[in-house]
Amino acid sequence: MISIKGLTKRFDDLEVLKGMSAEINKGEVVVLVGPSGSGKTTFLRCLNALEIPNEGVVSIGGTTIDFKGRVAKNELLEMRRRTGMVFQSYNLFPHKTALENVMEGPVVVQGKSREEAKAQAVKLLEKVGLGDKVDFYPYQLSGGQQQRVGIARALAIEPEVMLFDEPTSALDPELVADVLAVMKELAEEGMTMVVVTHEMRFAKDVADRVIFMDGGHILEEGPPEQVLDNPKNERTRQFLNLIH
Ligand code: ADP
Repeated sequence: MISIKGLTKRFDDLEVLKGMSAEINKGEVVVLVGPSGSGKTTFLRCLNALEIPNEGVVSIGGTTIDFKGRVAKNELLEMRRRTGMVFQSYNLFPHKTALENVMEGPVVVQGKSREEAKAQAVKLLEKVGLGDKVDFYPYQLSGGQQQRVGIARALAIEPEVMLFDEPTSALDPELVADVLAVMKELAEEGMTMVVVTHEMRFAKDVADRVIFMDGGHILEEGPPEQVLDNPKNERTRQFLNLIH
């Protein structure tokens, strides 16, 4: 489903991703952990074409882009349409209702009729437990509810992969569980997911694989019980001791 080879991303002189390679299967849930600044967000943003890698070949579904050469804008848009991104800070349009936020992508990006987009958005908001909040504006919703709108919005373009960037780290503890429950349900339905999170319980419960990143590289990867409970690498062990 996803193949990444030699992914390199630099910001001026700072090389953030240093030739990362990974394969992710259809339906697989991968949890990405690692110290702050190790490149996790940049990695997700490269998969969503929000950042343009300097080098590397990325395949998502049927789209393959070699970033060494010039990349056409329509290739980037095609890659973006295959990936749904959920941000730590929700990034909802403040002047649009929950329903309008979810309709935006299908209408603007996919050219769906408003009627069709609306019917689908209502279903998605029901799916994330917000069927009674469709006409609410973001400021009228709790952080957890806003994040669930964020998930519905990402799902609305019918992506093949969902990318989650610390989706619960901005939330009060009592609001985290509802968001994780929606993510778990998605995973159980067979969605392919890449999740950056410090929620180790979620990783143990839901992940098929945990990847530990440090300094723009993958240092260790494997099933959650192996990487989280019995890490081979000393850096992984130090990091896990800090967050436990
Ligand atoms: P993580 O998600 O693991 O905390 P990030 O991918 O956010 O790591 O950041 C990795 C490094 O890249 C950090 O040193 C960060 O300051 C730098 N970085 C991220 N985005 C930019 C940017 N747009 N411009 C310059 N430096 C950036």
